Amino acid sequence: MESLLKSYDVIVVGAGTGGSTAARFASQYGLDVCLIDSKKRDQIGDKICGDGIGTEIFEFLNINPPKGEELACHIKGAKLYSPNLKKCIIMLDPKQAGYVVNRLEFGQRLLNEAIDAGVKQFLDNTMALDLLYKNGTVNGIKVKLSNGEKADLHSKIIIDASGFYSPLRRNIKSSIIEKEISKKDSILCYREIVDFGLENPRVNDPDYISIILDQEKAPGGYIWYFPKNEHSVNIGLGVFMDFKGKVKELYRKNVFENYVKTSEYKIISSGGGVAPVRRPIWSCADNGIMFIGDAACQVSPLHGGGIDPSMRGGYFSALSAKDAIESEDYSINALWNYNYNIMTSIGAEFAALDLLRITLQNLSNEDLNFGLEKDLFTGNEILEIASKGTVKLSLVDLVSKAIKGISQPKLLLDLNYLRINMNNISSHYKKFPKTMEKFEEWKEKTQQIYGKIRKPNHHNSST
Ligand SMILES: Cc1cc2nc3c(=O)[nH]c(=O)nc-3n(C[C@H](O)[C@H](O)[C@H](O)COP(=O)(O)OP(=O)(O)OC[C@H]3O[C@@H](n4cnc5c(N)ncnc54)[C@H](O)[C@@H]3O)c2cc1C
Repeated sequence: MESLLKSYDVIVVGAGTGGSTAARFASQYGLDVCLIDSKKRDQIGDKICGDGIGTEIFEFLNINPPKGEELACHIKGAKLYSPNLKKCIIMLDPKQAGYVVNRLEFGQRLLNEAIDAGVKQFLDNTMALDLLYKNGTVNGIKVKLSNGEKADLHSKIIIDASGFYSPLRRNIKSSIIEKEISKKDSILCYREIVDFGLENPRVNDPDYISIILDQEKAPGGYIWYFPKNEHSVNIGLGVFMDFKGKVKELYRKNVFENYVKTSEYKIISSGGGVAPVRRPIWSCADNGIMFIGDAACQVSPLHGGGIDPSMRGGYFSALSAKDAIESEDYSINALWNYNYNIMTSIGAEFAALDLLRITLQNLSNEDLNFGLEKDLFTGNEILEIASKGTVKLSLVDLVSKAIKGISQPKLLLDLNYLRINMNNISSHYKKFPKTMEKFEEWKEKTQQIYGKIRKPNHHNSST
């Protein structure tokens, strides 16, 4: 291990997609950065994942898109299927069109680019254990080093990118950060990468990632079928957390047996994981610390995609760290701009999609088949909400939906009510307070909007 400096401008905890991006930009801004990860260097980036990522983030950050060994294949868009497979919505926007990556190689590239950008100290095989404080402000972390020794590392600012199970978020002394993420806001996933062999190009629709909504086969989530190339595929499912202990069995029966109809295959990788599927945590920062990526629930509630948002979180946190360090103020007031940037962008999108997710989880297969087949809610509307924050339907559209949905008036009303509340929450997030004074008022209004969608007795009842 290289000699330990023990004091930095910024310590980034976790070198996944979020942490590597934060470390890269913070270093580019001239800050002294220490990047740590509990994994050994050559394993960083390896993660149980669907491996899909859109094109947009690479343009937004002006960094190279996946190519060479990190690129498994290009994707033209996403196809969303109704449970009976009769309706397929094709989405071709830049959030869906993109790449399926080889996760380890992709992660290694992001890590190497961060180190090349000037990370002062990189410590692999090093585990963050807890936070250190001075006068109520986070000013460092307690770590277990690769040689087994414990040490205190100090910094002006901590960026926590240690993922869903972040020990730092769980232990933080804070009145504005949630320590626990409700099981009702998380999805349990299981996936395999299955290779049929070079001679066996049997992957369906190799230009699209496919998502199948099915409340019986994948209760609360969906089945995915993501091609890696013409002869191998990443297939899996996400389900309510109540299925802990049964998810592998569900996968075998409802995914593997349906999509691997041959005896000629090799399983390249298998495993499970958990993804948060809710709006970002109330505040993604407090005195001396910012949370990014899965640690801050910066993940699309609709499909659990979190690579792009973790990288956005990484970029925005580095920007705020730079400003805070320039002004020598590391308090929550100085870091509030990070919250503002997150909430008015992906926050607005994810809060709207969270309401959609809660509603979808409470629909039956019959409702889903009917709603999607009759275009009561279309892929374009979802995408419009996601990109612009609002959906404007013409009178003709509304009347047409009313006629098509006439035999299911309750569903029609529920979906219209959802649409109104998605619009409301999205514009409410876009008015996120620029300073902390109005935060409690803003939070109360958010809870009121959630209360309209999240009814007691539904599968999801916590706010
Ligand atoms: C099964 C599954 C499928 C998914 N499919 C997709 C998909 O197709 N597309 C997509 O965009 N997203 C997908 N996601 C979500 C995506 O994987 C995550 O949102 C994304 O990886 C989050 O990045 P992150 O940097 O926040 O955290 P992570 O990638 O989880 O990185 C956290 C890092 O922190 C390190 N770490 C953890 N604890 C400590 C500690 N105490 N000390 C030091 N280091 C620590 C870890 O070793 C790791 O390197 C999927 C998730 C799952 C579970």
